[in-house]
Amino acid sequence: MPELPEMEHYRRMLAERIAGRVIADTEVEREKSLNVSAALFDAVVRGRRVRSVERRAKHLLFRLDGTDAPVLVLHLMLGGWLFYGTQAERPDRTVQVRLGFGEASLHFIGLRLGYLHLMSAAEAEAGLAKLGPEPLDAYFTPERLAAVCLRKRGMLKTVLTDQSVLSGIGNCYSDEICFEAGLLPTRRTGSLADPDWRALYAAMQAVLREALQYGGYMEQPFFAGDRITGGYNGRLRVYDRAGEPCRRCGGPIARSEPAGRKSFYCPRCQR
Ligand SMILES: [Zn+2]
Repeated sequence: MPELPEMEHYRRMLAERIAGRVIADTEVEREKSLNVSAALFDAVVRGRRVRSVERRAKHLLFRLDGTDAPVLVLHLMLGGWLFYGTQAERPDRTVQVRLGFGEASLHFIGLRLGYLHLMSAAEAEAGLAKLGPEPLDAYFTPERLAAVCLRKRGMLKTVLTDQSVLSGIGNCYSDEICFEAGLLPTRRTGSLADPDWRALYAAMQAVLREALQYGGYMEQPFFAGDRITGGYNGRLRVYDRAGEPCRRCGGPIARSEPAGRKSFYCPRCQR
């Protein structure tokens, strides 16, 4: 499932392409991906200008022009991805929703568990109100990290991936961050000392920023000739690397499923 770096990477690429542009037409193959009928969706969205594309946690918000200022709230969940391009360029896949911008369209693909909801600005705000702080925000500090995590005692991995504690971190980056910090994902948050919180904070900044710089881990290209998206795949240190050598010590990466969440770590480098 795409996490903060993947969604922020999408946001940047989308902002360059569709911010300020008018949605010329819409096509809905799977009405269940929406929260309204395809007819109502088209009636509200068609002819509107995209004012901005924002990200909050793993959601993207497409803010549309107009006095009622509607918002399209996207969550890709598991299996969802985006493609921007012409009819000729688009991949040979079922497209659940398409937003047309003249020659090129934004294609929402694999939107089965994911959704694209049409909301008022107030509804969107209310839906996102319970999310925890954004780890890359300027005001976010090691002290704040410790404070929000300690509100929910438990296993480090469980707490890091809890969206009400922190925004945008999921299964993959929680493992990567724990590895970078030298901490086992199974550690109890109550057992972490000040240096651990500082190491965790530094790891979070380093891992998320590097992942964003390299285009995240999504495998599918966002546009024809895209060589940026997915560049972080080959740089993952532990995630999905069970049995492969640790890039730090050479020992095998281990996999376990504490509390039903698959987890990858180096038993030698993390404690
Ligand atoms: Zn190691």
